[in-house]
Amino acid sequence: MWRPCEGVGVRIDLHTHSTASDGTDTPAGLVAAAVDAGLDVVALTDHDSTAGWAEAAGALAQGAPVALVRGMEISCVADGISLHLLAYLHDDTYEPLVAELARARSSREGRARRIVEALGQDVPLTWDDVAAQARPGATLGRPHIADALVARGVVEDRAEAFRHYLHSGSRYHRGHYALDAVAAVELVRAAGGVPVLAHPFAAVRGRTVGDPVVEELADAGLAGLEAHHLDHDAAQTRRAIGLADRLGLLVTGSSDYHGTGKPNRLGELTTDRAVFEAIEAGARGVPVLRG
Ligand code: AMP
Ligand code: FE
Ligand code: FE
Ligand code: ZN
Repeated sequence: MWRPCEGVGVRIDLHTHSTASDGTDTPAGLVAAAVDAGLDVVALTDHDSTAGWAEAAGALAQGAPVALVRGMEISCVADGISLHLLAYLHDDTYEPLVAELARARSSREGRARRIVEALGQDVPLTWDDVAAQARPGATLGRPHIADALVARGVVEDRAEAFRHYLHSGSRYHRGHYALDAVAAVELVRAAGGVPVLAHPFAAVRGRTVGDPVVEELADAGLAGLEAHHLDHDAAQTRRAIGLADRLGLLVTGSSDYHGTGKPNRLGELTTDRAVFEAIEAGARGVPVLRG
């Protein structure tokens, strides 16, 4: 039975990944981990996919005492710069969005094959190695290639794989189709969802957008900025909070948990209860599920 804690102490983590994309916990395992971590609310936000929703919802139906926000993290591009857009509580059958996500996932597979082709010239790595690391139907990403390199003994962990071979400046790097960010915000809204820009100023990931791009997204219907994220330093967090304040956007915080693939711990960063309630109130797609 889900019981909201009153007032202070509510623990809300709005950004996590499962084996439906590049996390290492199954969707049901993720829900169990959220309960273990003492979370009151967890959002499942796999890359470009809602394939984990049903299994996560099943865990709640079995009585897991946590509220589940069904969401995803959409790969986007603006001005040639990669952006991640979190979508919360959208209708996952809204065809225009479904079609765009299918295109992105398919492009990700072709791109992963091209990366493996290039990398396989220099290190022992085949496509089968990578396929063995991903659950069938999972959104393929560089972390699966990293896991294959670990399994082959080429590197110790995902972090080393990214440092040596998979970072965005690497000669092995290849891009994939990503949605135009403004179009993605509009599609999420049209699907009844609430769009929040993930780790907007995380320069450790590569080039980041300027404030005018965020203003444009806000005009298109963006609801919030994920200011509190491990990939933000103090100045980047302050910048996101300041910009959210100026543009009238919500401020969220989350762990971006990926299971054992990254050091991020569930609930390490959290979102205020009032912000979560505003997201729930703004959604028209699917409801928050309560176990
Ligand atoms: P992709 O989706 O293929 O562009 O790969 C990006 C994903 O790789 C992100 O979701 C990150 O979680 C993950 N990632 C990036 N850098 C690292 C790192 N140093 N260690 C582990 N995972 C990483
Ligand atoms: Fe990821
Ligand atoms: Fe992200
Ligand atoms: Zn993420």
